[in-house]
Amino acid sequence: MDTSFFAAWIEEIATAVRDQKDHLTQLDAAIGDADHGANLDRGFAAVREALAASPPETPGALFVLVGSTLIRKVGGASGPLYGTVFRQLGKTLGAETADVALGDFAAALDAALSAVQKLGAAVEGDKTLVDALAPAVRALTEGMQEGPEEAFAAAARAAEEGAQATVPLQARKGRASYLGPRSVGHEDPGAASTALMFAALQAAGGR
Ligand code: ADP
Ligand code: MG
Repeated sequence: MDTSFFAAWIEEIATAVRDQKDHLTQLDAAIGDADHGANLDRGFAAVREALAASPPETPGALFVLVGSTLIRKVGGASGPLYGTVFRQLGKTLGAETADVALGDFAAALDAALSAVQKLGAAVEGDKTLVDALAPAVRALTEGMQEGPEEAFAAAARAAEEGAQATVPLQARKGRASYLGPRSVGHEDPGAASTALMFAALQAAGGR
């Protein structure tokens, strides 16, 4: 998978975030402060501009630029968190590699998961984006032998199931945790946006 493949993934994410902006904001209105859709849309619009202004030459450089832009442009918890995910992806892949093997991508995603957990101190079950990211990384790693299309489909399915599984949980991290038991019964917005990102990966892989 080369730089143009991953650029297409980021483009799919930016389009999906734009399309689902209101939906993400509604989820955040229920258990947060109603800005998650706007936050990510602002971030990925800036990412689009940054990539167009200076197109990166390798996947690693691309992901570092995506992550740095998100950290710079997105206020709120999700900017530093998603920024860390993409920066760590880029750092783990390295700036030199032009073509990324599926196994190396899975390993880099696993490193990104660890980095975001280190930053936010969330474990699975805390009702955060980790509840979608962790099962997606596992599914991708397990599905690897069957090839990218199957692995991406499995990851997208696992992320979506993980996001849905946040509904009955009580939030233990982030703004939603202030609500205590009243956070039960709603899908976590960050888990929903992570599911969107893996659906976008599947879409990019199927083209
Ligand atoms: P804010 O909460 O600052 O308004 P956003 O609304 O953009 O930021 O993002 C909220 C999402 O961030 C939550 O739905 C959750 O998935 C994620 N989140 C918040 N805190 C953490 C954390 N400590 N670890 C992982 N994810 C978190
Ligand atoms: Mg919010």
